[in-house]
Amino acid sequence: MDPGALWQDLGWQPDTLQARSFERLYELVLAGNARLNLTRITGREEFWEKHLFDSLRGLAEFQDQKELSLIDIGTGAGFPGLPVAIAHPDWYVVLVDSVRKKIAFVLSTIQALGLTNAQALTGRAEDLAHRREHRESYDLAVLRAVAQANVCAEYALPFVKLGGAAVLYRGNWEVQEEVELARACRALGGEIVEVDAFELPVSRAVRHCVVIRKIGLGLRVFPRPAGLPTQHPLG
Ligand code: SAM
Repeated sequence: MDPGALWQDLGWQPDTLQARSFERLYELVLAGNARLNLTRITGREEFWEKHLFDSLRGLAEFQDQKELSLIDIGTGAGFPGLPVAIAHPDWYVVLVDSVRKKIAFVLSTIQALGLTNAQALTGRAEDLAHRREHRESYDLAVLRAVAQANVCAEYALPFVKLGGAAVLYRGNWEVQEEVELARACRALGGEIVEVDAFELPVSRAVRHCVVIRKIGLGLRVFPRPAGLPTQHPLG
């Protein structure tokens, strides 16, 4: 597969340095996988499509914006945050995960790639969102494969500035999920503004990106203490 063909779908092409960083990221994830079991996606073609392309495609509607701040909650091995930081050197990207060894991997990768626009933090969304330096501080919050959609909204929206957005990367998307998410959003000061359905270009796997605009400040009690959002989801 020619990676150039994938990027054409986005209307964007990496420069030489970015293309080299994607290659290096692939090598680092493979090496890290031997120790840490970071991802099932290890084939080269699959990695380009399901990690690199998918990470950037979810933010296609924002890709021409300059100087955004973004938090990637539940980043795991660094997705979607690391490809986004490589593709957008003028964005500021914070990658968060509750598992220390995953964040240790992400930090070493940030260093190895020389990314000066990214940082990584160990912590749970439910705790970090109550810290003054993170609360309502980001233009965008993104979550891929972290929890059900209404739980993701509770994690994400408290981090987002008024007028900013949370983007939920989903596979399939059911009507019932949207109903529950819409109810949760009412409590959290959010409004679903778009459900972008698309297919990945090679595997034709179905993806949905749900964009929630922050239209009100929401209550200070959100997110509720660690564990509660998943035990008793809003909506
Ligand atoms: N986003 C990555 C991706 O798409 O490849 C990783 C997905 S992995 C299935 C889910 C990750 O979310 C795990 O690394 C887990 O530790 C993290 N996570 C789950 N709940 C979290 C929370 N409340 N706060 C921070 N991280 C969380």
